Amino acid sequence: MHHYWLKVIATSNIRNKILFYKQKILLSNEVDFMAIQLFVPTFDVDGCLAEIKECLEKGWTGLGFKTLQFEEEWKRYTGLPNAHFLNSATSGLNIAFDILKERYGWNDDTEVITTPLTFVSSNHAILLAGLKAVFADVDNTLCLDPNDVEKRITPNTKAILYVGLGGNTGHYDEIVSLCEKYDLKLILDAAHMAGTRLNGEIPGKEAEVVIYSFQAVKNLPTADSGMICFKSRELDDIVRKKTWLGINKDTFARINTKGNYKWKYDVEYVGQKYHGNSIMAAIGLVQLKHLDKENSYRRQIAEWYTKGFASYNDKIKLIEIPQNCESSRHLFQIIVDDRDGLIEALNQEEIFPGVHYTDNTEYRMYGYANGTCPNASYISDHVISLPMHMRLSFDDVQTIINTILKFISK
Ligand SMILES: *Cc1c(COP(=O)(O)O)cnc(C)c1O
Repeated sequence: MHHYWLKVIATSNIRNKILFYKQKILLSNEVDFMAIQLFVPTFDVDGCLAEIKECLEKGWTGLGFKTLQFEEEWKRYTGLPNAHFLNSATSGLNIAFDILKERYGWNDDTEVITTPLTFVSSNHAILLAGLKAVFADVDNTLCLDPNDVEKRITPNTKAILYVGLGGNTGHYDEIVSLCEKYDLKLILDAAHMAGTRLNGEIPGKEAEVVIYSFQAVKNLPTADSGMICFKSRELDDIVRKKTWLGINKDTFARINTKGNYKWKYDVEYVGQKYHGNSIMAAIGLVQLKHLDKENSYRRQIAEWYTKGFASYNDKIKLIEIPQNCESSRHLFQIIVDDRDGLIEALNQEEIFPGVHYTDNTEYRMYGYANGTCPNASYISDHVISLPMHMRLSFDDVQTIINTILKFISK
């Protein structure tokens, strides 16, 4: 699938192909967008409806059925050994720290090294588990800087939470080496990384646990859902129980046991209700089929932006992506002097970019670390995420580029 589409891209007139794709979407939705938004998810509407119809006809919209199918497909796609479907990545992050804390006997003094440049759900998970969030700075990839991470390691450090920002792997390999050297557990927040490859492979096999988001505007959109992939089979067994209130078997398995409804289940943990449902999984199953070709179009858009800004590298800084990383390109970010001015100028042209993210140490619960990560703090004030989605045409991208060039040349 992946390789097939790349070949199509390489051998056909890319612009016509894209325009055709865009027209098809516009026709099928009968919506024209004057404004250019940051993110607009594109769904295979007929495919999703057919898959959802199956759930409705069968009378099975909850846990089991499609959630199990999607888990199997996700394992096949990623090559990760385990996968459990959730109602969000936030749930996944929360339950990951809860389970690791219990498994490894971590306590309230246990420190987790993390990035200030992420969606707050990553760092909230550390606090919610009663652990300490220790912030390290980011490098030119906007991911954790391995050198700075190493400086923050203490005898209390037990884990690193790594975020592949925008789909970039950053210096993930070096973080993996640090984890080996200091015997730390690696938690990978892969919310932006659906489809990212490192040295041609989906990264994450090295991590204790990988968490994906299939929230409404992520690369594999559902409406809200996520996936948690533990390296260990034992922890995968535990997460299946803990995401359903501690109950030890899913409904699908119970009903299938000789048609004998085993209502007398055991409850092993004080768990959460974090598991996903079959409607979300149905959408996920269909959208997964489109993920690689959509990501290759995202990379095409990124190339157009990169070319457009090529002669302006004194005023527009791009984010470094290592050679061996094929980014999912969830984001295309640039760094400029007058970020807020640029956002206003773009808004005037009905172009609506975003910011990923505000340095988390600016928020009250992480304020204790404010000032400890100067790069992240600078990025937080100067970074801007440009529109990135399937409905952008070559011309849309040129309009965005020209508006930006006009602003910075003033
Ligand atoms: C979106 C996101 C999450 C949370 O994902 P949900 O599925 O919305 O809970 C976590 N981390 C990062 C980096 C994200 O962008």
